[in-house]
Amino acid sequence: MPAYNQDNIFHKIINGHIDCDKVYEDEHVIAFNDIQPAAPVHVLVLPKGEYCSLDDFANDAPADVVAHFFKKVRDIANDLGLSEEGYRVIANHGANASQTVHHFHMHILGGRLLGGLIAGDALNR
Ligand code: 5GP
Repeated sequence: MPAYNQDNIFHKIINGHIDCDKVYEDEHVIAFNDIQPAAPVHVLVLPKGEYCSLDDFANDAPADVVAHFFKKVRDIANDLGLSEEGYRVIANHGANASQTVHHFHMHILGGRLLGGLIAGDALNR
């Protein structure tokens, strides 16, 4: 996996150099609305530490930071009112998942019936 590159858009959002529509922030985590929402609710949740994807976050981050992060994903989904009707969380790692921003983030998607696990496309076989 390539080394973390500070020249990514989420690093700039975390450092306040680029604006975001913030949903939640604490010492270790920031969450904001996706600029191109794929569902009525589409929030991105990021650890503030420099991790490229789930792969190095789960491997390298301190256990309490990992635990806090996943608890916050749950709390944010709950605070967004998604828990009763349901929601999906997605983390893309690498090329086959079409990861476009190489700072680890989880997508929280909800607000409508989301359908199958992977959107219907020609590659889905
Ligand atoms: P990935 O494909 O890496 O899992 O997801 C990256 C996500 O970041 C995409 O859903 C994309 O719409 C979102 N995104 C890219 N640039 C920005 C930005 O500048 N601001 C916000 N809020 N979201 C962004």
